[in-house]
Amino acid sequence: MTTYTPVIGLEIHAELKTASKMFCGCANDPFSAKSPNIYTCPVCLGLPGALPVPNKKAIDWTIKLGLALDCKINYFSKFDRKNYFYADLAKGYQISQYDIPFCYEGKISTSQGEIRITRIHLEEDTGKLLHDTVAGTPVSLIDFNRSGVPLVEIVCEPDIKGGAQAQEYGKKLRCLMRYLNIADCKMAQGGMRLAANISLAPVGTKGLPNYKVEVKNINSFKFLEQAIDYEIDRQTELLDQGQTPVQETRGWDANKQQTFSQRTKEAAEDYRYFPDPDIPPIEFTKQQISAIKKSLPELPEQVIARWQDKYQLSQSTAEQLSASQEQVAWIDQILTLAHQQQLSPLDIINDLINKKIKVKVDDDAQAVVTQFKTLHQTVAVDQDQLDQAVTLVISQNPDAVAKYKAGKTQVLGFLMGQIMAQLKTKVDPQQIKIALTTALK
Ligand SMILES: [Zn+2]
Repeated sequence: MTTYTPVIGLEIHAELKTASKMFCGCANDPFSAKSPNIYTCPVCLGLPGALPVPNKKAIDWTIKLGLALDCKINYFSKFDRKNYFYADLAKGYQISQYDIPFCYEGKISTSQGEIRITRIHLEEDTGKLLHDTVAGTPVSLIDFNRSGVPLVEIVCEPDIKGGAQAQEYGKKLRCLMRYLNIADCKMAQGGMRLAANISLAPVGTKGLPNYKVEVKNINSFKFLEQAIDYEIDRQTELLDQGQTPVQETRGWDANKQQTFSQRTKEAAEDYRYFPDPDIPPIEFTKQQISAIKKSLPELPEQVIARWQDKYQLSQSTAEQLSASQEQVAWIDQILTLAHQQQLSPLDIINDLINKKIKVKVDDDAQAVVTQFKTLHQTVAVDQDQLDQAVTLVISQNPDAVAKYKAGKTQVLGFLMGQIMAQLKTKVDPQQIKIALTTALK
């Protein structure tokens, strides 16, 4: 049997959370709109003669994302028309970017190796179709609240080797976009959408396989992983039988836990791209790009590395605590205070994670440190009282004492625990240890 190397690339769309839409002043708030078609105007309804004006913030944010992903930036760029007809696209074309995206050639690391980012471009979202029944008749309704919402598309090279790595990559991108405060990436509502190109190359062959299967419209990372792993198995079986999998678009059926054919792609679709004549090309100066670069915060990976290095936090702990810039600033305050007050930053963080310290993000950092101190407060105990407890515990635990005397010093912790229970107050462990080891000599 032949073994195969999976060749997988992802295309990820995410809606940016700018206040207004990509090419008009309508509110960008499709998810909480009170009714359909309230955030619309001639531009996002595609009425003839309406003129689009690009949203500067959406462009800046796209560049920001690109810089955070180590991309190169095209100082000269433009918007193009992607021509196709569909009911949710009133103009008959989508404004997108064809051959000169804002960002290209970036990278992101995963636990299974680096994934190269091919490009990041900016486009507009379409309206939303709703299939319903009105008075017994099936109808399709269109809501244009989403039409013209800024949408970034992040395309990577086929460096992904399986479902788990795809999931890790997608989650990392989502974390980064949320961290940069540019997108909410609400998967269930369609604020972030995933598509995977999957094919298999026999081990030892050069170049890409002569087919690829696209699985589209996946709205959860779990489904992404399942769909990819399912496709790897399905394609392996076909290839083992001497067949080439059909070049097609497939969907994911979460109930049946399998992909299904949606449409075959006999030829590459021709969208007749051309530069949008209504939008002049966009040119950036070096100063503009370096100003955006300067506005980048310390990125999650840098924060995690710093916390690991300075405070010995574990990777997973550091990841948990670096979801947003606000959270990072808060944790940094706590760590600094702990350090200044000669408390163990690691112990405070563990108490936070294990919810022994009960706080909300934004609670005063000193309050957190004070809670920690109260939690671990110890009282000085009368020496006679302590000695009595030590004597009692030694007499009650002859086996443990014998083990200790035979060199098994691990039992010391057990005996100290017994003494602490006897005293019923939080006594400084050091004081107990000294009393106990003296008595055991
Ligand atoms: Zn509008």
